[in-house]
Amino acid sequence: MDLSIVVPIYNEEDNVPVLHARISEALADTGLDYELILVDDGSSDNSYAGLKLAASQDPRVKVVKLRRNFGQTAAMAAGFDNATGRVVIPMDGDLQNDPLDIPLLLARIDEGYDVVSGWRKDRKDTFINRRLPSILANGFISRMTGVHLHDYGCTLKAYRREVLEDVNLYGEMHRFVPALAHQVGARVTEMPVRHHERLHGVSKYGISRTMKVILDLMTVKFLLSYSTKPIQLFGRWGIYTLFAGCLTGGVTLYMKFFEQTSMNRNPLLILTAFLLFMGVQFIVLGLLAELSARTYYEAQGKPIYNIKEKINFV
Ligand code: UDP
Ligand code: MG
Repeated sequence: MDLSIVVPIYNEEDNVPVLHARISEALADTGLDYELILVDDGSSDNSYAGLKLAASQDPRVKVVKLRRNFGQTAAMAAGFDNATGRVVIPMDGDLQNDPLDIPLLLARIDEGYDVVSGWRKDRKDTFINRRLPSILANGFISRMTGVHLHDYGCTLKAYRREVLEDVNLYGEMHRFVPALAHQVGARVTEMPVRHHERLHGVSKYGISRTMKVILDLMTVKFLLSYSTKPIQLFGRWGIYTLFAGCLTGGVTLYMKFFEQTSMNRNPLLILTAFLLFMGVQFIVLGLLAELSARTYYEAQGKPIYNIKEKINFV
C-alpha cells in the first residue's frame, strides 16, 4: 500500500460524503494504492452512519469508531496505529485542507524527506482568536524545538510510516511530531498548502486550546514526550498567576519611578513577589506531576483511545 489518509471525524455529518468524494477524485488519476481511514471520535450526530455508508460503497474506506470523544490527537493516533501505507497523511474532516495537495506532499516525500509539513500560507481562520495565537505559538515552538516551520498546527502533513511508529501521541501533541521526528534523525521539510473555510458545521476548538498547546510544548521540551492533565491543571494557573505578577510588577515599577511612591513595605511589592513566586511554583509542580502521570500511563501501556468497532480492515 502506497498511502494511508487519516481523518479524525467529530460531528462532521455534512462533510463526510463531500470529503470522501473529493479525496477519491483527487487520487483517481494518480494510480496510487491507498486507504482512507476515517476515525469517528465519538460523534453525537449522524457522522457514523455516513462513515458506514462510505465504507460499504468503497473498500478503500476503513472506519475506526472510538468509544467516546477522545480529542483530535487521540483520534489521529488511532488512525496512525491502524495505517498500513508506506506514507501516512492526516487531514481535517471539514475540507479546510485540500485533497489536491496530497499528491504534492507525496512528491516531496519521494524526494527523500521523512516528514513534509503543510504550511497554510493563506489561512482562512479568524485573526484574533486563531491566527494571532498561532503566530505567537509558532515562533515560540520554533525557538523551543529548534525545528523551524511556519505552521506547526496544520493537520495536513505527510509522514513515512516508520517515523510515526516511534512517537506516542498525547494531549494536543500531533503538531509536535515533526520536531520529535527531527530529534531522532528524520529529514523534515515544509510545503505551502491550500486552506479553505470550513465547509459545514462548526469548529470544535476555542481559545483554551492555545493554552493547552503552550503547556504541551513545555512538556515536550522537558520530557520529549507527552500526557495531558496535571501540567494543564497547575500550569494554567501558573501562567495566570505569573501574568498577574508581571502586571502588578509593572504597576509597582511605574509607581516607584514615575510617581516616586515609596516601595518600602508597600503591599504591592509583596503581592508581586508572591504572584511571581507562586506562578513559577505552579508550573514546576505541574511538570513534576506530568512526569509521574506519564510514568504511570507508560507503565500500564494504557492507550490514549479505546476502539469500539472497525470496518473494512482485513
Ligand atoms: N476533531 C476530532 N475530535 C475532537 C475535535 C475535533 O476528531 O474532539 C476533528 C474534527 O472533526 C476535524 C478536525 O479534528 O476533522 C479539526 O477540527 P476543527 O475543524 O474543529 O478544528 P479547527 O480547524 O477549527 O482548528
Ligand atoms: Mg477545521
